[in-house]
Amino acid sequence: MTHAQDGPDFTTPAGSAVVQLRTVAVTSGRPAKEPDAPLNQPIVPASTYVGGGATGYGRYGNPGWSALEDAVGQLEGGTAISFASGMAGVNAVVDLLDEGATLLISDTCYLGVASLAAERARQGRLTLRPVPVDDTDAIVAAAEGADMVWLESPTNPLMDVADLKAVSAALAALPGDAPLLVVDNTFATPILQRPLELGADLVVHSATKFLSGHSDAVLGAVVTADQAIADRLLASRSLHGATPGVLEAFLVLRGLRTLALRVEAAQESALILAERLGQHRSVRRVRHPGWGSLLSIELADADAADRLVAGARVWVHATSLGGVESTFERRRRWPAELPTVPDSLVRLSVGIEHVDDLWADLRRVLDSL
Ligand SMILES: *Cc1c(COP(=O)(O)O)cnc(C)c1O
Repeated sequence: MTHAQDGPDFTTPAGSAVVQLRTVAVTSGRPAKEPDAPLNQPIVPASTYVGGGATGYGRYGNPGWSALEDAVGQLEGGTAISFASGMAGVNAVVDLLDEGATLLISDTCYLGVASLAAERARQGRLTLRPVPVDDTDAIVAAAEGADMVWLESPTNPLMDVADLKAVSAALAALPGDAPLLVVDNTFATPILQRPLELGADLVVHSATKFLSGHSDAVLGAVVTADQAIADRLLASRSLHGATPGVLEAFLVLRGLRTLALRVEAAQESALILAERLGQHRSVRRVRHPGWGSLLSIELADADAADRLVAGARVWVHATSLGGVESTFERRRRWPAELPTVPDSLVRLSVGIEHVDDLWADLRRVLDSL
């Protein structure tokens, strides 16, 4: 069985040294420039291919996945493998561990990831060691003998930030085999943080969020610079069948073209909003790392938070994040949300609307609380 990724020859402009991610987002994942070739990789709905080639069957490869993987791989600096969803990618990465392995994991993180790890621990397949991501010493102290360290940074929804460079250096200095360092880079995106450059072994993305950017597709990606790990992940996707839809792959690559512009614009607005929210009498606390377009605020109580999300007109009360449209939600409305997340906490995902409209909408409701 082959797991070939050979599709069209995706090339960056011949002879040019493309270094800016904004350019990479536009030039990567395109068919070769030939007369009358389309500029974009077309959607190829195919369950099977004429025999004798490297791919053979629809579960083993698709030119649309390859185009997207070329782009995500170049942006993160490794080999990307796309999956049916972020969670399918998470599952494939956790599957790299043998039965009985020890997994260090952020003590607050995306609920699905926390639940998946907890399920495996309950089944006796993994031992979990929860760690605070913003405490490098605590991570390193707990890491000896561990097989994998899973850091989300910034964390959902408390916005704690890990010092990835310091953590990876300290892990490498541990006696014995260093644990694999996995970073969920969904919140930061490669525009703001490139974990492989900082020493991580694997990067995980819910491409459903910023990479796609338009709240219209569910897809995941895992990136690594270690070819042996990439081969294992590809074999896992082919075997377990968590393959992305061809329309979804097209939509995510289409969204990716504007990733840098979207992230930069949303970040600029988020900084302004974080400052204004911090001065409003109804806001008890603002959690914002000082970069990125996600922030969380704490209000007087859960009722105030519910009134905020119900009263806004521009902001959409919805879960998920990273779209062009600003969304927010009171996280504890989910019964499974961690008790360490304050009851009154509202997570805001700032989109690309004008910041004055976003602020006016929030202020009108906050003034009334
Ligand atoms: C959404 C999300 C996931 C899961 O991704 P899906 O695409 O929903 O499966 C994982 N990690 C983080 C940080 C997320 O926000």
